[in-house]
Amino acid sequence: EPWQRLADDSVLPAGPDARLQKRGGHKYDHGHALILGGGAGRGGAARLAARAALRSGAGLVTLGVPPEALPENAARLDAVMLAPLADAQALEQALRDSRLNAICLGPALGLERARELVPVALAAGRATLLDADALSAFAGLPDALFSHLHERAVLTPHEGEFARLFPDLAQRLAAPAERGPAFSRLDAARMAAARAGCTVLLKGPDTVIATPRGQARIAAAVGEDAAPWLATAGSGDVLAGIVTGLLARSFAPLDAAATGAWLHAEAARRFGPGLIAEDLPEILPQVFRRLD
Ligand code: AMP
Ligand code: MG
Repeated sequence: EPWQRLADDSVLPAGPDARLQKRGGHKYDHGHALILGGGAGRGGAARLAARAALRSGAGLVTLGVPPEALPENAARLDAVMLAPLADAQALEQALRDSRLNAICLGPALGLERARELVPVALAAGRATLLDADALSAFAGLPDALFSHLHERAVLTPHEGEFARLFPDLAQRLAAPAERGPAFSRLDAARMAAARAGCTVLLKGPDTVIATPRGQARIAAAVGEDAAPWLATAGSGDVLAGIVTGLLARSFAPLDAAATGAWLHAEAARRFGPGLIAEDLPEILPQVFRRLD
């Protein structure tokens, strides 16, 4: 297996990053994230991601939606900017703005829209996070996705999405231990990253992150804390937004994914029981305040 000849086989815990609190300069110095959303009536997930990107410190966040979804989104957004983004051509046009330095596709995007927009977004070569529909859209045809991926991309599948893109790895994970040497979620994430050619963050109670070179981080569930409250609708969409915000702030893919997973879990721990996804972005300032 390619990952067994790793350049770097380190495994470190995910944790806070000294750069999180550092700010200064113009808003454009903190990056501009573009979150792509879907059609009318199914935009909540993309709005959650957009708000999380802003709260994690991206200087500007634009939510790009099909024209028919503009009124609904305009009524629900303030600091997040809104742009009509009808199709692949409109996305190409938007990406001519070189200050857009991080792109998030997936939450509430729609499968058809994902198949159209993901290759265009990846062709721009910027930091790009793919989650949810942007992963499921390539179920059964992973090579149609892998052929576009590059090292500035990050995939954030939950176990179901992981199985759609890497069915053989998911099968090995599910196999009973007596059928051969144990195959861990860390092994699975490393093999997936090597195959995809980009950073892979595999979600779960323990979240594992791996790069194509084999570097890995683990954001472990800690005891009986509040993190199980993360198993709630929209929680993964917030994680996608946090990681995209850090990508906009020029964190490298591995650092953005690992620091983002830690922030997400830490926000849940700080909020405690009763958490819903909307609470997560709002609790981030408390997490930042306690970093030093
Ligand atoms: P999604 O399925 O896309 O909404 O993502 C769910 C998020 O919640 C991921 O970040 C998971 O890592 C996290 N999560 C799910 N279940 C648990 C759990 N039992 N303990 C801690 N985190 C969890
Ligand atoms: Mg999800």
